[in-house]
Amino acid sequence: MTQRITVLGATGSIGVSTLQVLALHPERYTVYALTAHSRVEVLAAQCEQFRPQRAVVGTADAALVLQRLLRQKGLMIQVDYGTAALCEVASAAECDTVMAAIVGAAGLAPTLAAAHAGKKVLLANKEALVMSGQLFMDAVSKNGAMLLPIDSEHNAIFQCLPSTITQQTQQVRNQGVAKIVLTASGGPFLKRAVETLEFVTPEEAVAHPNWSMGRKISVDSATMMNKGLEVIEAHYLFDVAVGQIDVLIHPQSVIHSMVSYVDGSVIAQLGQPDMRTPIAHALAFPDRIQSGVAPLDLAQIAQLNFELPDFERFPCLKLAYQALQAGGTAPAILNAANEVAVEAFLNREIGFRVIDQLIARVMDKLPATSMSNLDSLLMQDKAARDLARTCLSS
Ligand code: NDP
Ligand code: MG
Repeated sequence: MTQRITVLGATGSIGVSTLQVLALHPERYTVYALTAHSRVEVLAAQCEQFRPQRAVVGTADAALVLQRLLRQKGLMIQVDYGTAALCEVASAAECDTVMAAIVGAAGLAPTLAAAHAGKKVLLANKEALVMSGQLFMDAVSKNGAMLLPIDSEHNAIFQCLPSTITQQTQQVRNQGVAKIVLTASGGPFLKRAVETLEFVTPEEAVAHPNWSMGRKISVDSATMMNKGLEVIEAHYLFDVAVGQIDVLIHPQSVIHSMVSYVDGSVIAQLGQPDMRTPIAHALAFPDRIQSGVAPLDLAQIAQLNFELPDFERFPCLKLAYQALQAGGTAPAILNAANEVAVEAFLNREIGFRVIDQLIARVMDKLPATSMSNLDSLLMQDKAARDLARTCLSS
């Protein structure tokens, strides 16, 4: 039996890496649906290679263009657009596994739909979990979904946790875990003089030293908001208290994260900084399959370095810890303000240092509430975005 896969965000960095792994194993995987937002030519080429039953894009116009391109290629593929269609292909009976690789809050609805439908959910879209937290984890456990982390740190932690942990919830309570140590490269500005950070350009910010990723997560890595979102992600995925999650800068990105146990043992997962490794791990779990990634050559790397993060240089990391401590909708507010700020930075409307200032202002002005249901969460998300935009325009 082959696994039938929906790839949400197929045209992105994670989506493309996922398709590369799938292409190595045609006997194990077939593609049920591919989705993109606006890059229809790329999606059309992917459809030609992987022959999905369905394709979804962002708008009616994009759907018309895609239909025309597919017709030219002689392909009969159902094309739809919009959030409802994304949710449909994430929850369809014809699909077993969903790669959740849309960027940002736009991925929340389809990723939740996959959890509600009890799918095997491969979670790259950390923003969805950061926003919805316990609501998402409850949807996973109530509907018998299986959640496997794709984010390299969380995938590493998953691999370092005891195998006695239930594969349904991955909770680590009472398993002798003392700490979870998330490693971070420190991004492109680890050594840059702090007083010059206000002048950095989007091109400099997205030039990550080790990883090749989409633009939004690359900026998040430069501010270290990415690590902040990952702290929140780890809290929900593994049910660990905020005080049990440490961040350690490790510029080589070879150790992807570690679990420290009460007896003094520390277990780490190592590998090349290439997302095809965690993708292959999650796709095949509990089996192991080829990912196309070259073996790790530690003798050549020779040296691994570590240092503590500096909250002055990376205030976004501190803001994320604060949001997690505040609880309720605070992480959703943090995430929404960050998405607005990063977009404004990439559009050259604000400087790099305004990103953290804007997020701090929104968190300060908009009180978090308890998160009772999805509607209240989406209202808070919208309120935070509106407030961030108002702050920007003033
Ligand atoms: P990219 O920007 O490269 O790709 C994003 C994908 O989402 C594209 O397919 C894009 O379509 C689609 N998309 C964008 N906006 C929307 C929208 N409004 N509605 C529906 N689809 C949309 O991002 P990445 O692949 O880098 O990241 C994806 C997710 O994975 C993020 O949440 C990121 O944090 C996480 N992640 C990424 C890692 C990486 O190495 N890249 C590592 C760990 C986590 P289109 O191409 O048409 O715009
Ligand atoms: Mg990561």
